[in-house]
Amino acid sequence: MTQLEMDRMYLELALEEAKQAAKENTFPIGAVLVGPNHELISKGRNKVYSFHDATAHAEIDAIRESGNFLLLDENRYKCTIYTTVEPCPMCTGAILFANITRVVWILNDPNFGGFRSFKEANLFEKKLTKVSMLAQPFEDLAIAQCELMENWEKNRNRNNVWEYSTENRSVTTDDSKCSK
Ligand SMILES: [Zn+2]
Repeated sequence: MTQLEMDRMYLELALEEAKQAAKENTFPIGAVLVGPNHELISKGRNKVYSFHDATAHAEIDAIRESGNFLLLDENRYKCTIYTTVEPCPMCTGAILFANITRVVWILNDPNFGGFRSFKEANLFEKKLTKVSMLAQPFEDLAIAQCELMENWEKNRNRNNVWEYSTENRSVTTDDSKCSK
């Protein structure tokens, strides 16, 4: 299996978590953590509304679910996290604290994405240079994630949530299906 095939396999698994989150009426975002030997360590999904916890993002959930795995010396800077949406500033911070070395995501997030902004601004450079990223490698998966977000936007309970806009979110500029 090539690296790209493996990336796809784990992104698809993260997407399954995102679909599960959608069923639980919270942000449809999923993540999986993969170890040094490309083995699945843990899965996570957004639980903000299902657990009433504003910090319960998918990446945080996957990191919590991995127990002490990331704290062991032999796993430092050897693990990859796959997530369906570009990590926000909070999750980017968590990824740095967890000594994860690679981040792969399905869909860029121009609204709340933090990873690229941190990198471009040379913030936390000493830590961030140890982390490589692969952003939005598969268009079909990006469209699938975009559709999950749009369905969530349409169907969520407006009385119970804060504003989260999908405006300006796009997969490709020429893709009318997922662009606004
Ligand atoms: Zn986050």
